[in-house]
Amino acid sequence: MDIWYTENHTDNVRLSIRIDRQFASVQSEFQRIDVFDSVEFGRIMTLDGLLMVTEKDEYIYHEMITHIPMATNPNIKKVLVIGAGDGGTVRELCRYPSIEQIDMVEIDELVVHLAKEYLPFTACSLDDPRVHIYYQDGLRFVRKVENEYDLIIVDSTDPFGVGEGLFTKEFYGNCYKALTEDGILVNQHESTFYTSYSNAMKRAHSRIKGFFPIALVYQAHIPTYPSGHWLFGFASKKYDPVRDLQADWWNGLGIKTRYYNTILHRGCFAIPNNVRDALRES
Ligand code: SAM
Repeated sequence: MDIWYTENHTDNVRLSIRIDRQFASVQSEFQRIDVFDSVEFGRIMTLDGLLMVTEKDEYIYHEMITHIPMATNPNIKKVLVIGAGDGGTVRELCRYPSIEQIDMVEIDELVVHLAKEYLPFTACSLDDPRVHIYYQDGLRFVRKVENEYDLIIVDSTDPFGVGEGLFTKEFYGNCYKALTEDGILVNQHESTFYTSYSNAMKRAHSRIKGFFPIALVYQAHIPTYPSGHWLFGFASKKYDPVRDLQADWWNGLGIKTRYYNTILHRGCFAIPNNVRDALRES
């Protein structure tokens, strides 16, 4: 059998991965969900034909979206996670005994259901007693929250379809309001290499900057995302992730990671000129 999963990264660029087997292909109320097994990347979940998670490289994304804010403020107790239905972000958060509550707001119950069935490597902590899952639109959820969370992680799809609202001015303003005075917001922030992603990144950054006194981006190498160069947004009311990094505290926790470390923590905020220039244009 010679079956390939192919995803258009632009109109002129595609990524193809050889597939061993298809486990599921379903249309939920919100999106089409496919789960495959592949030779090189292990299990894969795609949403509307866009790759979300692969077994081989998911740890990079999930470690970077979680440990950067956690190592910046050791007093994070209550976390809101928006999207993230595969469970990888919650798995990383659950490694901190200091976290008391994790509220996860995922619009699509079927993503969580399929992740529990086929992606146990990411979904393994979704039944942790500290985790409460709300099946709702994250945009609506944050409208009614005030001064409640120490950290908000937006682990969303791209800024179109169901994920579009999670890149709006209204959403970022409500995230600011939902955070405590120590609050940190981290979000998946697209990429700069291809124009369509770059425009989305610039729009998101300029909107976040409008609310938060500290608004930065940091980078990671994620082989299966378009261009392989991916950005995350870090915004906060007072914490600077480089100045305030609690390296000794974090290293003392003994959390074993495959990508993140506290030296990389400082380095990932050293962004290349093309990203810096794109942010200046935003
Ligand atoms: N790591 C992925 C990436 O960057 O490609 C993203 C993870 S994926 C599991 C993101 C999740 O966000 C999806 O399960 C999707 O259903 C959810 N999502 C999209 N829009 C949402 C919204 N408005 N409210 C809550 N969840 C949303």
